[in-house]
Amino acid sequence: MVNQADIFVVGGGPAGLAVAIAARLKGFDVVVADAAEPPIDKACGEGLMPDSLAALRQLGVVIDPEQSFAFRGIRFIGAGGSVAADFPRGHGIAVRRVRLHQALIDRAQEVGVRLLWRTRVTSVRDVGARWIIGADGGNSRVRRWASLDAVRSESHRYGFRRHYRVRPWTDFMEVYWADGYQLYVSPVARDETCVALLTRDPHVRLNDAIPRCPALARKIAGAASLDNDRGAITATRRLQRVYCGRIALIGDASGSVDAITGEGMGLAFRQALALADALAADNLDQYQTAHRRLARRPAFMAQLMLMLDRFPRLRPRVLQTFAAQPVIFERLLAAHVHA
Ligand SMILES: Cc1cc2nc3c(=O)[nH]c(=O)nc-3n(C[C@H](O)[C@H](O)[C@H](O)COP(=O)(O)OP(=O)(O)OC[C@H]3O[C@@H](n4cnc5c(N)ncnc54)[C@H](O)[C@@H]3O)c2cc1C
Repeated sequence: MVNQADIFVVGGGPAGLAVAIAARLKGFDVVVADAAEPPIDKACGEGLMPDSLAALRQLGVVIDPEQSFAFRGIRFIGAGGSVAADFPRGHGIAVRRVRLHQALIDRAQEVGVRLLWRTRVTSVRDVGARWIIGADGGNSRVRRWASLDAVRSESHRYGFRRHYRVRPWTDFMEVYWADGYQLYVSPVARDETCVALLTRDPHVRLNDAIPRCPALARKIAGAASLDNDRGAITATRRLQRVYCGRIALIGDASGSVDAITGEGMGLAFRQALALADALAADNLDQYQTAHRRLARRPAFMAQLMLMLDRFPRLRPRVLQTFAAQPVIFERLLAAHVHA
């Protein structure tokens, strides 16, 4: 079956399904293989910025409003104050990973992508497809097989997430800044809220971090948690190249930005549209150029935000400045969502 496809995608997470849909819409015959059983869950803040939603719409993926939660902007909270800004246009949504995954699967099936679940790919040497796409996540083996592992820069943090049965108290995505970590909160449905922790410290867990953040602890006091904590590494990784011969990388396999940006999946959706264009033009150089351009803005915003993490004495002063002059925060948010 694989030998008869134009495109063989290794990995059926958000990036793999997005590129499969985009390529199928260009008329390619596409097979996706993933080792896991769908719908696939993953540690995630579960937020999609307005520009990520726009890319999803271009792919024709529909998220049920009853199964997600729209947010109008971002609020930062920490020593030094609190500041919020609306997105200049549109809204973001937060949606449970499994629900987003199901929506991507539904769309892939609708357009005729062939999906092979519980199928671990152990080599691509015998894959006869014209193109092979590595969408196999941060620890990509396809990246290694294609000798695309050379990095321009790389650093790591740790992420965890938990869901609470609690009615959202805000229509902003909230980021709580503390010494050594951030907690970010996304309402994912009318009675569910996702809390994600990001830290450089491998020993900190949600149970340590939340009580040390009373502004958040008060809001979720007594709420039932809906699942076990899930953890993952969030990497900041820039590769030198994202394709070699007939193999191209996408999503976290192709490099990533820190999760604090809430941009990992949105970036993958935009890469998917660019990669499908490049495949249709039979020109992966075009994808390499687009990939670099797409990564620039999230990478810059991630650097800015991680400065607030690295320099704890700077953070209250920055938050005070934002609180006193919210227009600065508004402009930063507008730049973040490419408005
Ligand atoms: C704590 C945390 C919070 C985050 N919050 C957000 C957020 O709020 N918003 C946002 O947009 N992004 C967020 N991200 C980033 C986002 O989760 C990733 O960017 C996204 O999951 C990347 O998708 P992907 O498809 O590239 O990789 P993955 O989701 O990792 O999917 C890779 C797939 O490949 C499969 N696979 C791997 N190897 C093989 C193999 N050999 N054969 C077959 N299948 C294979 C796996 O089973 C998996 O399904 C967050 C990340 C973390 C860690």
